[in-house]
Amino acid sequence: MREAPVVLVTGGSRGIGAAVCLGAAKAGWSVAVNYASNAQAADAVVAAIRQGGGSAIAVRGDVGSDTDIKSIFAAVDKAFGRLDGLVNNAGIVGPTQRVDEMSVERLERMFRINVTGSILCAGEAVRRMSTRHGGKGGVIVNISSVAAELGSPAQYVDYAASKGAIDTFTIGLAREVATEGVRVNAVRPGIIDTEIHASGGLPDRARDLASTIPVQRPGTAEEVADAVLYLLSDKATYVTGAILNVSGGR
Ligand code: NAP
Repeated sequence: MREAPVVLVTGGSRGIGAAVCLGAAKAGWSVAVNYASNAQAADAVVAAIRQGGGSAIAVRGDVGSDTDIKSIFAAVDKAFGRLDGLVNNAGIVGPTQRVDEMSVERLERMFRINVTGSILCAGEAVRRMSTRHGGKGGVIVNISSVAAELGSPAQYVDYAASKGAIDTFTIGLAREVATEGVRVNAVRPGIIDTEIHASGGLPDRARDLASTIPVQRPGTAEEVADAVLYLLSDKATYVTGAILNVSGGR
């Protein structure tokens, strides 16, 4: 029997990441479900995958920490002995603030988790997947946001800028490793009904903004996961350096 490919999903325990983990398992991937602190949520995703006959492990680690990133990848190496996909999904927002109110601590945390973490994780993945390093190839999907285009004024411009960095990073890395068997793409969700809005102090944000979305409703985590799963799949072998909006027209 052919060994299942392995995907690591950062922030795979809740929201969009959890939907990606569950969908990837159904599509035949073995899944490493990374989380930062909520072990119960990660264990629930792992249990659901195993119940469905799939293979999964939960891996704690903060993508805002270089040491944790190394231990996340070491745990994946130990459990599965291979890596074929990375979904750079872990990300944070901050409380609503204007730029003239933002502290250096806030900015450093935002960029450390959303940008530096994603780039370091991609580096670890490329070291394992790139043919240049003796790997068999693989695929990286970065989770950006339509905030990268909109700028999120008077809400969280820092977050929007961090996602702008993810878009540029996606294009650059895709071209850097294009001849090494590694595809790199990004998905830009619009307003998706997850707990991230509550973490930024706006629990009703998805519902409140529904009328500003062209299709008049927030998206679901599963609708974003479907786009990620397409980019991970062999249906997308000629797609690299692409940024796909999944935003109901927003
Ligand atoms: P969410 O519901 O808040 O879930 C966040 C997930 O990331 C959780 O599994 C959390 O783990 C994990 N996480 C948070 N900080 C982490 C860290 N430092 N290291 C490792 N894992 C960490 O978020 P979401 O709405 O699904 O968002 C997922 C991605 O989509 C983010 O990159 C976000 O910016 C992007 N996005 C979301 C929306 C939206 O409307 N929801 C729109 C555009 C883009 P714990 O449970 O352990 O904390």
